[in-house]
Amino acid sequence: MIACPHCEALAKHFTLISGNTFGARLWTDGKMIAPMLPEPPPFVQCHQCRHFYWLSDARKVGLIPVMTEGTTGFPDDWLNAPYVQEPSEDAYYQALSEQVAETLDEEKFLRVLALWKRNDSMRDLTGSGSVEMQPLSDQAKQNLETLVSLLDESHPDEGLLKAEVLRELGQFDEARQTLQRVSSDDYQAIVQVLLFLCDQGDTMVREIG
Ligand SMILES: [Zn+2]
Repeated sequence: MIACPHCEALAKHFTLISGNTFGARLWTDGKMIAPMLPEPPPFVQCHQCRHFYWLSDARKVGLIPVMTEGTTGFPDDWLNAPYVQEPSEDAYYQALSEQVAETLDEEKFLRVLALWKRNDSMRDLTGSGSVEMQPLSDQAKQNLETLVSLLDESHPDEGLLKAEVLRELGQFDEARQTLQRVSSDDYQAIVQVLLFLCDQGDTMVREIG
């Protein structure tokens, strides 16, 4: 149970004592979805005042063991508190325009979260091949272009993400050039996947192996 740093409204989230990444699925944009390790959103929008905050900045009010129906012995406002809400894609852009991010790292992370949120609607979770490409809105495009300018290629993971963002923008030549500069051996398999997708002229987020 946490309290919004702006208005003290209560919200709850799951904390797993233990979990694992069994069955985890990794995507070209760097997002990993691990069904056995569900994690609360790191950045949330308050259900009451609609302001944004980092979950790590929220005051912890208390802990309720796994809630089941009929759980008693806790204050009503605890039991009735809604779960923390991840912002919508549009709300992420709003947060970015309000300059909620206080450091460069926070801004990069927020822009990645916005990218992931946009891509969530295009992840082919069932492998049906029928997921449709969403048009790139002006705000989404601006987010991706700013992210490209902020990512630091001296960190191989950021170089890889930069190439992916360029690919999603349809800037395949720039994406290829960026991939050629990713020298870390650990990433060569993913580099090959991204090069292949560039050759295909593919801008969709894709699952990696
Ligand atoms: Zn609030």
